[in-house]
Amino acid sequence: MKEPITTFGAQDELNACLAYWQEKLFLQHWLVIAVMVDAGEIDGNSGRTVAQWGGSTALIRLNREYHEHGKPHTKCPVELTLVHELLHLRLGKESENEALVEQMAKSFLMVKYQIPLTWFRKDM
Ligand SMILES: [Zn+2]
Repeated sequence: MKEPITTFGAQDELNACLAYWQEKLFLQHWLVIAVMVDAGEIDGNSGRTVAQWGGSTALIRLNREYHEHGKPHTKCPVELTLVHELLHLRLGKESENEALVEQMAKSFLMVKYQIPLTWFRKDM
């Protein structure tokens, strides 16, 4: 069964996934660059995005180590963080409801991979 991407082996793979989600989220007109970085570069966060809202450009940095291990009880595939960060771009700079953005990111992955919400639990 195909599952959400846990880690990107190569930049090509990340670029392909980024293009897939930019189209699905109506963000094709954005110039988005996504890269995997060491945890220290983004203070241990799962991901961090810097956007130029006027120019519709963004740099998304994804924590390489974070997604390989996840949280104690939750799977955190890197694709989930990528979708989460893209949703922030789609919803605008006022999108401060982190829980809602995270739920929406999970919704998109559940639909893409035909997986239930319980998939994100580590004991499943
Ligand atoms: Zn967020």
